[in-house]
Amino acid sequence: MLRVAQACGVPQSPARMNPIYANMPTTIFETMSALARETGAINLGQGFPDAPGPEDVRRAAADALLNRSNQYPPMTGLPELRRAIADHYRLHQQIALDWASEVVVTSGATEAIAATILAVVSPGDEVVLIEPLYDAYLPMVLRAGGVPRLIRLEPPAWTLDIAALDAAFGPKTKLIILNNPVNPTGTMLPAETLAAIAERCIAHDVIAMCDEVWEHIRFGCDHRSLFAVPGMRERTVKIGSAGKIFALTGWKVGWVLANAPIAKQVAKAHQFLTFTTPPNLQWAVAEGLGKDASWFDDMRAGFAASRARLIAGLEGAGYTVLPSEATWFVSIDLPASGIALDDVTFADRMAREGGVVTIPVSAFYAEAPVRTIVRLCYAKDDATLDEAIARLARMRALFPSPPLGGEGGAA
Ligand code: GLN
Repeated sequence: MLRVAQACGVPQSPARMNPIYANMPTTIFETMSALARETGAINLGQGFPDAPGPEDVRRAAADALLNRSNQYPPMTGLPELRRAIADHYRLHQQIALDWASEVVVTSGATEAIAATILAVVSPGDEVVLIEPLYDAYLPMVLRAGGVPRLIRLEPPAWTLDIAALDAAFGPKTKLIILNNPVNPTGTMLPAETLAAIAERCIAHDVIAMCDEVWEHIRFGCDHRSLFAVPGMRERTVKIGSAGKIFALTGWKVGWVLANAPIAKQVAKAHQFLTFTTPPNLQWAVAEGLGKDASWFDDMRAGFAASRARLIAGLEGAGYTVLPSEATWFVSIDLPASGIALDDVTFADRMAREGGVVTIPVSAFYAEAPVRTIVRLCYAKDDATLDEAIARLARMRALFPSPPLGGEGGAA
């Protein structure tokens, strides 16, 4: 029977599929973007800018598409791109890399994350994850047979409790996954937290996967890479993304930086995920990474202006915005804003009745979600932001406030 059903292309019931996927909802980013398409709302949900991206980088991709090879590039990436990545990190983060053995180009950071987890984690290995967590991490850890040990950053300051870190590390810990700067909070892990994580990784012989895709999108502070913390060079997988650096999120060009033995294993997982990444995009990213340092400052200045515009607009409309210093996102604290709705209800009503799509931050938790924060992407043009602010202000007046003297006032 089963063979016949398969041969006839009859879909298998979800019960016959891997339960990790069968029971998994569609990612919140796709869900909220679909809601924006359905309702015509302004999409401040999924993180992507509405600008077209740097013209010279796009033109380099177009030229390469027409004038260079479109056949398989080397499995770990075009040598020119791997050299450009190594040069880029030497200049911007004073990190020395051997481009030939320590850089693997992937189809976006999401593939880099998957390849790293698949290469490192065996069934039964414990993996320390920090909530709120980017939603691609946990399913892949589970699929690899890893046993998650969740610890949390607590709002409003999103600080990590070192005692919880100690409790999470043990003899079976194989990997810790962190994101710095942090999506969705827009905060950066302080040097003391990175040092504490490094100390435990070294003591327990643990590998760290550090998703640093927001490394260039920060305001008034330098990026601190776990890779550069003493003792971590040999045990850190650092992940980067051209989509974030050049605001070309659809390109899906990312990379893994790791010492040669680790990079070699990650490449073996990568070779059977995507094998390689479109060569014209690789050529263009290689060119883009070589831009003058001033280009990166200007890029940040442009985002800083949009960010300040959205924050000022939200505050002017009576919303409390949590402090942040990086990423394309800012967050509203609902109780501190005097709004007695959970994040999912707020996001749903704001999309359907208010015409603005946001992201409920509870989606970044696997257990005991924080339900009081929504995330907004400010990387939009001024007119779009102004219209979104006007809509958010109109809705603010309609949302129920907590009873006087009740919980959830200024948090
Ligand atoms: N990183 C993006 C965000 O946080 C989402 C990426 C995606 O949708 N795959 O909004």
